[in-house]
Amino acid sequence: MTVAILKESHHAETRAAMVPEHVAKLTALGARVEVEAGLGATCGHADEEYAAAGAAVRTDRAAMLAAADVILQVRKPSLSDAGLMREGAVFIGLLDPFQSPELIQALAARGLSAISMEMVPRSTRAQKMDVLSSQASLAGYASVIVAAAQSGKIFPMMMTPAGTIKPVKVFIIGAGVAGLQAIATAKRLGAKVEAFDTRPVVEEQVKSLGAKFVKIDVGETGQTADGYAKPLTEEQIQLQREGMTRVCAESDVVITTAQVFGRRAPILLTSSMLDAMRPGSVVVDLAVESGGNVEGVVPDQITDRNGVKIVGIANLPGRVPVHASQMYSSNITALLAEFWDKEAKALKLNLEDDILKSCLVTHGGKIVNEKLAALQT
Ligand code: NAD
Repeated sequence: MTVAILKESHHAETRAAMVPEHVAKLTALGARVEVEAGLGATCGHADEEYAAAGAAVRTDRAAMLAAADVILQVRKPSLSDAGLMREGAVFIGLLDPFQSPELIQALAARGLSAISMEMVPRSTRAQKMDVLSSQASLAGYASVIVAAAQSGKIFPMMMTPAGTIKPVKVFIIGAGVAGLQAIATAKRLGAKVEAFDTRPVVEEQVKSLGAKFVKIDVGETGQTADGYAKPLTEEQIQLQREGMTRVCAESDVVITTAQVFGRRAPILLTSSMLDAMRPGSVVVDLAVESGGNVEGVVPDQITDRNGVKIVGIANLPGRVPVHASQMYSSNITALLAEFWDKEAKALKLNLEDDILKSCLVTHGGKIVNEKLAALQT
């Protein structure tokens, strides 16, 4: 069975779907691994490393696509690449399926089995394959590093003969995987950290990291069985904005990470809230790729609004491509190993398996995920 690992076609992607360490694991399982030349150029791995791990390094992308049984990438394939894959092949990557109806339709029509890594369930068994969590942790870390680089202030308290400097105040909105890592990183840098989330269970987690939980009464909130936030009503969002305005105005750095799975991210920082912030403050919007939590945020730009910097970097895990690739690669390898038939030395998709039921989105010429199929009509 041939597993092909392709270079990313997205111009700003720095991650690679697999690192040499995991290529060696796949070859040990009996896979024939091919990597596109230059695969690891932006994440610290030369072609020679992949070759030493047992991969064949190839330059003919179209031929690789046409022959592979399994194709791995970080991001979704282009429509033209999808058109080159052979019927029955398995594509694994972050398909962004809710925003890509045309691609999902094309993958189904070509008889491809497409696995959407963002649809891997958040169960205990699937934890090692949970790309959303591994990449969100890194995004949380990177958001604080980016904020520190944009701020004119240092984060820790410093007592010097030249006077005492107060620690910066950081406010983190949304304390899921990314938010909790952002809290931990800001604390390590010495900031005074406050956080808010609509899921009540998060309060203890925030406090255990040494941050203060901001109390805002927005009425009944909760989470789904998968641990995701339930969407708020427009009235609840308005109450939340009112409750957060003072905290934002007093903060040097605000990091927003609030998302609701499968929907546009809620706008939590309005223009008037931004106007109430002090010049020199920094806002980092981690939700920018799903529409943004901050009014007026521009993807992949840092904008200045009356001295307040609004950072809209889309691919924050891509800022730390070495570890982001290592973790993504580990998640993918865990998925391949889980469904690998050792005797046949091949990937065998068990359609009755809970994990695959959730993340296999096209198979046998059809869109097999009900929610995605419904989007097509
Ligand atoms: P996410 O990226 O969908 O959302 C980020 C955070 O935004 C969440 O904490 C959410 O509650 C919060 N949010 C949504 N609307 C908000 C609003 N209006 N104001 C403030 N915050 C808002 O979520 P995520 O970080 O990927 O995961 C959420 C949770 O899922 C985790 O904290 C965890 O409990 C659970 N989880 C479980 C597993 C597992 O069991 N294997 C794995 C990962 C995550």
